[in-house]
Amino acid sequence: MELLYEGKAKKVYATDIKNVLRIEYKNSATAFNGVKKDVIEGKGILNNLFSSYFFDLLRKEGIESHFLQKISDTEQLVTQVTIIPLEVIVRNVAAGTLAKRIGVEEGHIMKFPVIELCYKRDDLGDPMLNDDHIIALDIATFDELKELKQKALRINEVLIAYFKNFNLDLIDFKIEFGKTADGEILLADEVSPDTCRLWDATTKQKFDKDVFRRDIAPLRETYQALADKLGIS
Ligand code: 5GP
Repeated sequence: MELLYEGKAKKVYATDIKNVLRIEYKNSATAFNGVKKDVIEGKGILNNLFSSYFFDLLRKEGIESHFLQKISDTEQLVTQVTIIPLEVIVRNVAAGTLAKRIGVEEGHIMKFPVIELCYKRDDLGDPMLNDDHIIALDIATFDELKELKQKALRINEVLIAYFKNFNLDLIDFKIEFGKTADGEILLADEVSPDTCRLWDATTKQKFDKDVFRRDIAPLRETYQALADKLGIS
């Protein structure tokens, strides 16, 4: 079937089912907007495993997504959506670009979850936008933006509680949303350690893509250790 789109971590194919696409998780790992890259055998399998599991978990908590079914080690079927070109970032603890941008120490716990919205444009380095930009530039309407934020905070609550069971702190994450042909807004893209920060609550050991970005530990072994810890296989 026709390849419709190839991103840094996934390929998207058409299927012969109306409004259904096939996503293939790739073995490539990238960071810093593609400046650092590597091919890591087994990464596609692990991220398909995580993403399918988290989409299922979120659906059980009433959060609908584009995810339909895992169909092989590296592939899943999803509902076709038009991606809203926003990276919705939720931060519970200051880390990464926020810590760097404002000079606060990584690990500083914030009073409440902070939402950041970035324009999904690799060529521009995904610049941060405020609500006015998003509405005035027709990226999303006022009501859509409200819905995205509400959903993002609900997803944060569910995931924080889930990871707490395994003594893991959800530091931050990035999600994307898409619109179906009927105009429904669904969580889309992926939910995996590529798109979040997860620290052991006691030792602060990292179980996310920062191990690759910062050359801390091998990515595949780290993701496998996380899958084992969560009992996902
Ligand atoms: P930061 O802005 O600190 O780099 O990222 C905040 C959170 O969003 C982290 O969990 C990070 O993994 C995720 N994130 C932000 N932008 C991207 C992106 O372009 N790709 C991926 N995979 N994750 C992102």
